[in-house]
Amino acid sequence: MRAKMWGMLKANPTCDVLILGGGVNGAGLMRELALQDVKCLLVDKDDLAAGASSKSSRMIHGGLRYLENAEFRLVSESVYERNRLLKYAPHYVKPLRTTIPITAWFAGMIKAPLIFFGFNVKVGGRGAFIVKMGLTFYDILTCRLRQTPWNFFMGKKKSLQEIPGLRDDIVCTATYWDAWITQPERLCVEMALEGCSVQKDSLALNYVTAEKNGADTVLLRDKITGESLTLKPKIVVNATGAWVDFANKPLGIESKLMGGTKGSHLVIDNKELFNALGDRMIYYEHTDGRICITFQFMDKVIMGSTDIRIKDPDEAACDDAEIDYMLTTLKGVFPTINIPKSDIVHIFCGVRPLMASQEGYTSKVSRSHFLAEHKPDATRAFPVYSMVGGKLTTFRAFAEMTADRLMPLLGVTRQVSTTDRYYPKPETFTGETLKTLPDLTVAEVRALTQNELVVHLSDFVRRRSVITLLGHLTEASAHELADIMAPILGWDDSHKREEIAMSLAEAHGRK
Ligand SMILES: Cc1cc2nc3c(=O)[nH]c(=O)nc-3n(C[C@H](O)[C@H](O)[C@H](O)COP(=O)(O)OP(=O)(O)OC[C@H]3O[C@@H](n4cnc5c(N)ncnc54)[C@H](O)[C@@H]3O)c2cc1C
Repeated sequence: MRAKMWGMLKANPTCDVLILGGGVNGAGLMRELALQDVKCLLVDKDDLAAGASSKSSRMIHGGLRYLENAEFRLVSESVYERNRLLKYAPHYVKPLRTTIPITAWFAGMIKAPLIFFGFNVKVGGRGAFIVKMGLTFYDILTCRLRQTPWNFFMGKKKSLQEIPGLRDDIVCTATYWDAWITQPERLCVEMALEGCSVQKDSLALNYVTAEKNGADTVLLRDKITGESLTLKPKIVVNATGAWVDFANKPLGIESKLMGGTKGSHLVIDNKELFNALGDRMIYYEHTDGRICITFQFMDKVIMGSTDIRIKDPDEAACDDAEIDYMLTTLKGVFPTINIPKSDIVHIFCGVRPLMASQEGYTSKVSRSHFLAEHKPDATRAFPVYSMVGGKLTTFRAFAEMTADRLMPLLGVTRQVSTTDRYYPKPETFTGETLKTLPDLTVAEVRALTQNELVVHLSDFVRRRSVITLLGHLTEASAHELADIMAPILGWDDSHKREEIAMSLAEAHGRK
């Protein structure tokens, strides 16, 4: 399929909008524009969704803690988008019961208003009174398209009965509802492919880079075949998340828009923790004020995350100190549950595409988004727009806003709204299952490999499925998958061995 797309591009190397980056923002924009019959080309230097969109905490949330920073517009937009995703992508986005353990009644009553009014105070120390105020306000903001119940508080005794192992110095717990997404990486791929199917001349290609090579052209390089071609776009959108400034450089633009922070997560196989959590996420404050989360993810537990400034997103990897920190926070909230490092089955680390900011505390950098315009100049005939910031939760609103800015430049008017459009449901497959992965059918592996731009085994196990994330990639399962994929992708034995080695190294790595 990928070769066919490259062939189509070679035959007609033009497009209305060239989108760089196949994360949730780039793929969301592709869907949005293609629905208006705008001819798009989306390219990613890596696989689609290889960036933050596959490394997040998977929460589809309003951002309760952004209330503290008085970001009402962001929270209101986020809860609205959350409710939309619950309604229109129910196959991926599910309600999430979320419980906050609280250790004091009135703590934070001086600090919270100071933070709210913009004083440079470190967050943390939130008591029951402040939490109740925040949750009530949050629930009121959630009213539009409401899909979830109202918050409630539980006394200490009942909380400890319901959540065995929870720290016993709490005074109560607060429970509210947000949502989570099972497979954001699949959503990205499906949105890009939906774009290609609704606008027949639109294309999506992974492992392709772009650089300016003439006043009105861009050179595209296919990292897989080594081929290159010259493309004439009318507009370029840089949706490369944390890489925005890096991707602008080869387009001749010096920008300083981003100030990303890396965040790591641990995937843990521990039955006691798994059972204690049940179907709820624990959203807890560590002693340093940082909010951490832990929740069941299929047959494992995910916990995270850290928030550390980083310059080069390609360098982001979880270090030993982060692992120790995350386990320490877990010990703080579940002191009697023993979680040795050997229970960690996978580690992943991504970079939040945060806007550049002078804020002293990373948690105070806004999670909102904006579109930066780089007008055409003497050396570049086409405008470039950089999508800066945002969250997984708000990608549709960001894509809609970006499309609305671009359409007048192309002389196009909106034909279709995505506000109430269902996301395509992936096909379900039956038949023979894999010996090493009994939840997966051979037919599904074949179909996704053929139709969803899979180039490497890693693409399949990390971004078309959650095999690596769940710690299910072993020598045996990697071999079984590679045997099915090899005839479709034309791998000989040595290529197959390379693919297996690479996917296993990533599964045991820290990126
Ligand atoms: C630890 C962590 C936890 C998070 N938790 C949540 C959460 O719970 N809820 C939430 O809503 N949000 C969360 N986020 C934020 C969310 O993941 C991001 O805001 C969102 O995924 C960004 O999408 P994006 O498309 O802008 O960037 P990305 O997903 O990073 O995509 C950018 C793409 O651009 C590609 N690229 C890079 N350079 C180039 C180039 N030169 N040419 C072409 N392509 C290029 C990359 O390969 C990548 O695929 C979290 C983020 C992190 C890191």
